[in-house]
Amino acid sequence: MTRDPRYNCLFEPLEIGPVTTRNRFYQVPHCSGMGRTRPQTLAAMRGMKAEGGWGVVCTEYCSIHPSSDDAAYAFATLWDESDIKANALMTDAVHEHGSLAGVELWVGGNYIANYDSRMPPLGVQSRPATFDIHPVQSKRIDKQDIRNLRLWHRNAAKRAVEAGFDIVYVYANHGYLLSEFLDPHCNNRCDEYGGSLENRIRIVRELIEETREAVNGKCAIATRFSVDLDEPESYDAFSMLADLPDLWDLTVNDYHIEMGPSRFVAEASLQQHIGKAKKITTKPVVAVGRFTSPDTMAGVIKSGTQDLIGAARPSIADPFLPEKINSGNHDDIRECIGCNVCYAHNSLKIPIRCTQNPTMGEEWRKGWHPERLPASKNSVQQREQVLIVGAGPAGLEAARVLGLAGFKVLIAEATRQPGGRVRRESRLPGLNEWSRVTDWRLQQLLKLPNVELFLDSPMQAADVFDTESQHVLVATGSSWATDGIGRHRQTSINGHEQPSIRSVDQILDGEIEQNLTYLIFDDDHYYLGPVLASALASRHNRVIIVCPQGRLCHWGNYTDEIHATNKAVLDVGVKVVTNHVLESIDNGSVTVSCVFTATTQQFIADRIVPLTRQQPNDDLLRSLSEDPRATELKSLRAIGDCLAPGLIAAAVYSGYEAGIQLACGLPDAHQEAEPVFKRELP
Ligand code: ADP
Ligand code: SF4
Repeated sequence: MTRDPRYNCLFEPLEIGPVTTRNRFYQVPHCSGMGRTRPQTLAAMRGMKAEGGWGVVCTEYCSIHPSSDDAAYAFATLWDESDIKANALMTDAVHEHGSLAGVELWVGGNYIANYDSRMPPLGVQSRPATFDIHPVQSKRIDKQDIRNLRLWHRNAAKRAVEAGFDIVYVYANHGYLLSEFLDPHCNNRCDEYGGSLENRIRIVRELIEETREAVNGKCAIATRFSVDLDEPESYDAFSMLADLPDLWDLTVNDYHIEMGPSRFVAEASLQQHIGKAKKITTKPVVAVGRFTSPDTMAGVIKSGTQDLIGAARPSIADPFLPEKINSGNHDDIRECIGCNVCYAHNSLKIPIRCTQNPTMGEEWRKGWHPERLPASKNSVQQREQVLIVGAGPAGLEAARVLGLAGFKVLIAEATRQPGGRVRRESRLPGLNEWSRVTDWRLQQLLKLPNVELFLDSPMQAADVFDTESQHVLVATGSSWATDGIGRHRQTSINGHEQPSIRSVDQILDGEIEQNLTYLIFDDDHYYLGPVLASALASRHNRVIIVCPQGRLCHWGNYTDEIHATNKAVLDVGVKVVTNHVLESIDNGSVTVSCVFTATTQQFIADRIVPLTRQQPNDDLLRSLSEDPRATELKSLRAIGDCLAPGLIAAAVYSGYEAGIQLACGLPDAHQEAEPVFKRELP
């Protein structure tokens, strides 16, 4: 196929100061959970994006000096000469595919704790660390510190040139030190760096000018900066610097919007804020907006709102997004669903992963490629048949991989619609985009004549053997338990068999009554409890949600949705009871107890929904394993939630991994005594 001419504007080269990008696809600096501790993992991941057509690929925030240390998060470093080699791995990988490599020089400020370097963080004021709650307070930056900082920044920029970077950033937003200087509420200095706007932008101006001197014409200078229609002064500041850098990487002054999950923030949401700034500068502008639609991308370029399509998440979900637009294969774009599972794993200080793209983070360790399967050692596979039971995310992903590898694949799905939990969950308020997980896989399967999907086909062991398949993958998922056993309870709740109990599965299947009081016991601590609460509230129910943690959606702290989630349930009138566990149910009377004092209190509810744990649907697996005919199978294994319930991302990963292992004739790593586990530092 060939490129649709409507998208030609996305493939025009653009000069950025002294360098030229081959197209308009720009992977902005984004955290990866890899950083300085996993340079080979990082280089392979960034290189994959360049291979997939991203004209510019940046690394994550890169500290210029040990006084900016975000341990235990994975950031990059250019502290001294010894850091150049690790960064050059990344720039080489990016250059190999004709793309430009960018580095975001970073100064931490009050955000950080410097636990590794044990130097006091430098803040505009001496304040406690603002990002995580740590008993650490910064030193108020003085004139000598500012002089030092400027020198460190210059030296880091010189090392960036040596490491092969083409674009060097001055990083002036996201709450770090330079944004503290810009912020009139935070910056209470009385010297030439505080007070008037001209004084508050001084440090940014100096760093842009000095970085330019340091790179000596070899790199472009980018500035990451926030503009916000609600903060008119941000445009005044921008105007004063408008033509100083070679490129503006712009966003809004609210990370929850910039990085907001699809539940709360739609594609291209920053446009108005960015468009106003674009009119003020003659320099190119890049901005993100979780762009996955080629029409939207071409629209923003043609409208002149921005010059480059910035992306973090869309490039994670599909490293080959530009290449697919270039070759006219738009249907193949694996669109980001906006779940923020990628960001969560960076927050957990481990390499990012992705719900849509199971190869993300495994490019170096496992040699996985988002578009190509490894060479197969299994020469007979084209004659072999695989039966996959269950068409949820795990089953569909395994079918896709095995279909590509040339197996004859049968998928048997009990219900009349494919998608499993994704189909059910994506009907809940705000989760509509999650259906992309199923839609993309079904679309891919349509291209594989050797894969057949049978709906309305509940399978028993005898049915499985009747298909005469050589391999069987059991992807039958899991069901929500109603006994209340979970994280905070090891034994069943008294009264859990009473008629007032409703299972999460019933609610997911749409069995929602009206004008009742529902009580959800949320020991899951993620999106599902709050989303179910909103769904129940929208049907005129009174909803109480009880959770044992101090805040609802505790795990949403990692995905950056905890704030918006709590607001959303409070806005629709849900009563939230934190730090309590469910003790017993007596008809409509529910007893909960405080996790600290064990003091009890009662609530009256018509329906009680325990959201505590999932039980694998492994009856079929067991009966197959125990059947004497199982010895005739070449392989039998469970995947996805049937193996171990978890995130949708884990189910997709499990399906991909099983598919690759079967396709490549590799053993099931879960069954190996000493599996090979590649590490950066053995
Ligand atoms: P996963 O997340 O692991 O893919 P899901 O729960 O999303 O699991 O999907 C499992 C799918 O398996 C569901 O669509 C369910 O209807 C189907 N399923 C469960 N048991 C059987 C069975 N015995 N025969 C066929 N399909 C089944
Ligand atoms: Fe998008 Fe979710 Fe993948 Fe992140 S994990 S890139 S939000 S699909």
